[in-house]
Amino acid sequence: MDHQAVRTRFAPSPSGQLHVGNLRTALFNWLLARHHRGAFVLRIEDSDAARSDAERIERLQGDLEWLGLGWDVGPGVDSPVAWQQSRRTDLHAEAAGRLRHMDAAYYCFCSTERLAALRERQKKAGHPPRYDGCCAGLDPVRSAERVAAGESAVLRLRMPAEGSLRFIDAVRGEQSFQAADLDDPIIQRADGSAAFLFANALDDALMGITHVLRGEDHLSNTPRQIVLLERLGQSVPVYGHLSLVVDDQGAPLSKRRGAPGVGTLRDEGVEPAAIANYLARLGNPAPADGLEPLDTLAADFDVTRLSRRPVRFDRRQLDYWQSLAMAAAPVARLRPALRVDCVPGDRVAAFIRLVQPNLRRADELNDWALRLFSRQSVLNGALEARLRPSGAAFFETLAGLLESAATADWKPLRAELEAATGRRGGALMKPLRQALTGLDHGPALGDIIHLMPADIRRLRLQQAAAIAAPGADTDA
Ligand code: GLU
Repeated sequence: MDHQAVRTRFAPSPSGQLHVGNLRTALFNWLLARHHRGAFVLRIEDSDAARSDAERIERLQGDLEWLGLGWDVGPGVDSPVAWQQSRRTDLHAEAAGRLRHMDAAYYCFCSTERLAALRERQKKAGHPPRYDGCCAGLDPVRSAERVAAGESAVLRLRMPAEGSLRFIDAVRGEQSFQAADLDDPIIQRADGSAAFLFANALDDALMGITHVLRGEDHLSNTPRQIVLLERLGQSVPVYGHLSLVVDDQGAPLSKRRGAPGVGTLRDEGVEPAAIANYLARLGNPAPADGLEPLDTLAADFDVTRLSRRPVRFDRRQLDYWQSLAMAAAPVARLRPALRVDCVPGDRVAAFIRLVQPNLRRADELNDWALRLFSRQSVLNGALEARLRPSGAAFFETLAGLLESAATADWKPLRAELEAATGRRGGALMKPLRQALTGLDHGPALGDIIHLMPADIRRLRLQQAAAIAAPGADTDA
């Protein structure tokens, strides 16, 4: 492989929000291009005008940029190459004309009624629906005259009648199709517009795409697209078909079935690094298991390792990568999410560093800030019931000790707390943590104690003591 020349693309139809399945396709193409220091193209397949609009294209761009997938050709990049399929119609029409003149394509006048009846007959006989070649033998000159006279016709690609069509799929290995199973596909509709299969392959060739990674659902298009490009004398890209991403029920992800959209995950506060790291490993046994930047993921990327079996999207796995991304995020990135103002300015950075491994999303900083710095109580009914058995004296002792002790050095402080309360381990730490933070889990207790202002610690422990005092529950 000439590494400099690798050129991949992502070719979405702007029909709505990207979901994690399409985003993985984009990511894999990007990783492949970057692995070889090649180029990545973003082509918008918007020929189906009804489904396209500028806003959707912008959203799509925004989603890819957010993930960190920049492109060398595409929206916003100054390049003479038209990246919008709807602006490439002249190229499609020219190639369709050429195929027809070579007799590699022919006009088909079959009515929709005839085709529907044909399909019905085939279905009844238990055969797969396929075009029967009714118009394949028409005289091309006569057909052109009929079209010139205003008769409606589509253009079909003439596929080989026999033998087999083979290609090496970059992911799935050798693929072989029987010519007899592949009917002549429509390449140009009656209104002169290019059909998906045709525009898609032609644009790949004309844009110099060398590698196409796309969903397995396109596998059966590939032999037809290869024939098409060969007839046009264009070079054929390496095709690699990615196994589908499926949901918990094993159904392919789709927006209709509620697959999470990229915009939704973004709104939920999921970090781009978390999605990139999760998706990069979905069906890809990547060697490194820590959170990696895109460039490292690209350096490790190898299409031959990709899974050929469907892969399940697992939200818990994404949450795991999200927690790693939160723990690794620079303070400055998380800082804007802190909107409550109870954290003293000189403790903000230390606070963020302490709690960030416990965040699932950046705005949870606010909850932690209230727990550690605000005078607002962290207790609730359920927690109060769990604190009571410790007794008021226990919390009063802790309050007294924390008041006088140096909190910077946790080990000796802990020893002091143990000696004074006669408790160790969970019997000591659990109620202490609950009283201070209102939670069972969180950052190391010594660090929390050190970070919390003395008056807040005192307040929390006094509140706990009041709750645990005899008769406190009956008063309440
Ligand atoms: N626009 C097509 C799709 O979104 C592109 C298929 C391909 O990658 O070749 O499914």
